[in-house]
Amino acid sequence: MASTYIGRFAPSPTGPLHFGSLVSALASYLEARQRQGKWFIRIEDVDGTRCKPAFAEQILTTLQSYHLISDDKVEVQSQHHPSYQYYLEQLEQQGQLFPCNCTRQSLQPFQGRHPHICDSHTDAPHSWRLKSCELVYQYQDPIQGTLIFTDDLKNTSPILKRKDGYFSYQLAVVVDDHRQNITHLVRGADLIETTAQQLHLYSLFNWTPPELCHIPLIVNQNGDKISKQNHAKAITDGDITTLLCALKYLGLKIQALNMQDALDQAIRLWDIKRLKGQSALPIQPQDWHLIQ
Ligand SMILES: [Zn+2]
Repeated sequence: MASTYIGRFAPSPTGPLHFGSLVSALASYLEARQRQGKWFIRIEDVDGTRCKPAFAEQILTTLQSYHLISDDKVEVQSQHHPSYQYYLEQLEQQGQLFPCNCTRQSLQPFQGRHPHICDSHTDAPHSWRLKSCELVYQYQDPIQGTLIFTDDLKNTSPILKRKDGYFSYQLAVVVDDHRQNITHLVRGADLIETTAQQLHLYSLFNWTPPELCHIPLIVNQNGDKISKQNHAKAITDGDITTLLCALKYLGLKIQALNMQDALDQAIRLWDIKRLKGQSALPIQPQDWHLIQ
């Protein structure tokens, strides 16, 4: 029987691809390939104020240079606004949303959280927030173990559509993963904190969520996630040494002379359980040059 596994890698084009993203891309790719599934790339450019089309091009070129190629057309979130609007309205009809004109300043006493339904109106510029709730979600993560989200939805009302008209990542990612029939997410452990909100959206839409697996983050000398925010440098396109190094952090010691040979060996040897229990992988001193 053909595999029904569909995985994906979904970078945000706020900068070029860095080493941490390559490790994430490889983990989702290897898991999909080993399970004879499909692997899609999606450009998550829903935040039009931070994302640049030039970075999207650059990321795709870099992924291609590492032989990481989407099995289907590369989806781009900014082309799907009507579908996010449609599902936002579904939630509004369910009574799950409320309008909010609060400013960052007015939310300062709550550390930026929005603990209550505010007295806002739709006749002024407003965002749409999802109502908080008492529900507790739980799932079994193959790497991180049992994750229980007890208070994650209780004291917060995340924005689903911003005042400036942009949709939130939370809504877009859930709608897109459902639309593309994604069955498995292999992604960085930093996204655990958004998981309860996403599981809640799946439940409100009455959709089955994908199986979730959070891989450890590559962290720098200070223990911070390697990210565009802390100026991680772009990786060199098509560099076999960089690829072998990324595979090393995923528990794969491979010797190969070319990209495809390295990937083929990695697919054979890949075992996601080797990362079990780990949430961070500090970058080793000999590899610092890859990130700075
Ligand atoms: Zn408000």
